[in-house]
Parts: sequence; structure tokens; C-alpha cells
Amino acid sequence: MITPKAHIAATAPYALPEVNVAADKPLVMLAFNESARPPSPLAVKAGYEALASAQLYSDTEWTDLREAIAQIYRIAASQVLCGAGSMELISCLTQCYVGPGDRVLSSQYGYAFFRSAAHAAGADYDQAPERDLSVSVDALLASVRDSTRIVFLANPGNPTGTRIRQDELVRLRDGLDDDILLVIDEAYGEFADGLDESSFDLVSRGNTVVLRTFSKAYGLAGLRVGWGLFPPSIADEIRKLLNPGNIGVVSQNAATAATLDQPYMRATCAETVDRRDRFAGQMRELGLRVPESFTNFVLIRFPNADAAGRADQVLRAEGIMLRNMVGYNLPDCLRATIGSESDMEIVTEHLSDWRRREGVQC
Ligand SMILES: *Cc1c(COP(=O)(O)O)cnc(C)c1O
Repeated sequence: MITPKAHIAATAPYALPEVNVAADKPLVMLAFNESARPPSPLAVKAGYEALASAQLYSDTEWTDLREAIAQIYRIAASQVLCGAGSMELISCLTQCYVGPGDRVLSSQYGYAFFRSAAHAAGADYDQAPERDLSVSVDALLASVRDSTRIVFLANPGNPTGTRIRQDELVRLRDGLDDDILLVIDEAYGEFADGLDESSFDLVSRGNTVVLRTFSKAYGLAGLRVGWGLFPPSIADEIRKLLNPGNIGVVSQNAATAATLDQPYMRATCAETVDRRDRFAGQMRELGLRVPESFTNFVLIRFPNADAAGRADQVLRAEGIMLRNMVGYNLPDCLRATIGSESDMEIVTEHLSDWRRREGVQC
């Protein structure tokens, strides 16, 4: 009998939603927070060019990519590590710093992959309550236990879309013991107007990591590239866990070009944010609640779980897939990625019709 390690056997697979929408309608996929626009044309060109020399291994140092990131984000290239998506970096962080008997802490609606990564490393996972779908620094600090080794915070949050301010982030770091690692996951950092890169300053304390990704604002989800700013001593350890050549040549080249084409990324964010705020307004006009979002998605709160379930069915019958939030214990919510203009018009149209049919019942 081949036996896995006990904590692996006990870990649930990372749950992705089932795509069951009407097959006879064009698919409108708004469940994965993918970009509303394809990647920069310069990134596409760079990817093609790299493919022509793909007989060679990719650069294990991510030299060009790191230099581009360092230049644009005004940080030291030596402190940047790149992962096959930021998920790989999250997994390496838990593998490196926690094991059986240790605890990982996040917030009530923390990104579900934090739990998977904690469990895969054999650690226990705790969640601090949120207030009005926003992270509470007080609740996080009150939830720290003796065996807590890592605190993960997605800021802005997924699936809530909300964020905490920089001074709150500093208060969190100040309130944690120095030997607790704080990981700030800024997958949506580029969308969060005014959040900018000031959280990077916390990295110099030696116990804080900030993660970013090319999957959202840069529109490269399918190429699997993420990166993080690490204190040097943590970077040294994480490097040991990353596969050499973890990011292929096409992905490295395309991500480098995407980084250098800041105007394209900024335009994607501006267009997405504008469409998001109009869509959120339309949802509120239908009497649905939408917390203020700082990302490329919105969380739509229905009057109750049954209403959310019926709305989900109506949309699926039209080929539209939003993200069901039952797994986050938010059964009265659906999360909608901001897609193209026509995607959002179709969603608004069907939800308006549905709302009218539901009448006072909703
Ligand atoms: C989408 C997302 C990521 C991105 O993961 P990649 O592996 O870089 O695609 C990370 N964290 C959060 C909170 C996300 O929503």
C-alpha cells in the first residue's frame, strides 16, 4: 500500500467551481477574475519571439523580468522572486515556515488558497472575523496564538474586493511579534487606486513579504507568472524550494514586455474600474448590496441565499457564470468579474429581468 503523508491525505483538493452553464448560449465567463482585456500587444509579440528559441531552458534567474519589475516598481531586483503564479510563492512560503503543530492565520473571507497551502504543509488554519466584509486588524491581532507562524492578508481582499488602508497595515505589522511572518497578497494592487506600493516599505523589517501577480491587471493569467518582494534572508530560503526554471521562456518574455508597457496596463485598470463602478451602481439600483471594490470584480449581496441561488440559476441558463460563494460561507452572494462592456450589459439585463419577476419576494 502506497501511503501519503497523513496531512496530505487529510487535505481537501483546492476547489474550483464546476462550469455548468447552458451549452447552447455563448459562454460569458465571469468566475475567475481574469482581465477584461487580452495582454498588451507588446507582450504577445515578445511571447512569440521567445517561442522560437524554446529549445533552450528558461533563465533560472528571471534576469530581464526582475530588472523590468525593479525598474517599474522602484525596488531592488535582488529582492524579487518570481513564481509560476503567485500561488507557487504562497505554497513555498507555507512549506518553508510551517508544519504540523504550527498555525496559519488569515481573515474570515481570506483567499481560499491560503487554507489549502497551510494544510498542504501540515499546519492548522485559523480565520479572524471580518467587520462588514472588511478585514479587522483588531480581530486579526486578537486571533494570534502562541503557535501562529504566518499571517496571510490579501489586500484588497478576494472575494470581498475591500481593502484596509496603509496605516492599518502598519498597525497590523506593529502588533504582530517580530517572529511572525506577514504575507501581504496584493494580487489586485494595480487596481487599488491610492494603495500604490507603500506596503513595500514593510519588507525592510525583515519579516514581511508582498506578493503581486501578472494574472489580473496585466492579463497574463494563462502564462502563470507571479512575483514577490522578499527580505533577503527569506528570499534565500524560498529559492531553495522553487524549481529551477519554474517559469517558461514564453511566460518570462511576455511578462517582461507587459511590465514595461505600463500605459497598456494602466488603461486596462482605468477601463475596468470605470466599468466596475457603473456595474456596481446598476446592481445597487436593483436593491442589491455591493461593498466598495478596489479590484476587477464585485461581490453582489442578495437578500438571502435562496435569492442568490435563483439568480445564479437564471444566469447559468443564459450561459453566464459568476462565482458562487457557498465555499466562502457567503451563500447570499455571487462574485462577478468585470468583463467586457457587453458581458456586463448582458448580466445587468438578466438580473434586472430576474429582479422584476421576483418582485417583492426578493
Ligand atoms: C487571483 C489571485 C491570485 C493570483 O494567483 P496566480 O497564481 O498569480 O494566478 C493570488 N491571490 C489572490 C488573492 C487572488 O485573487
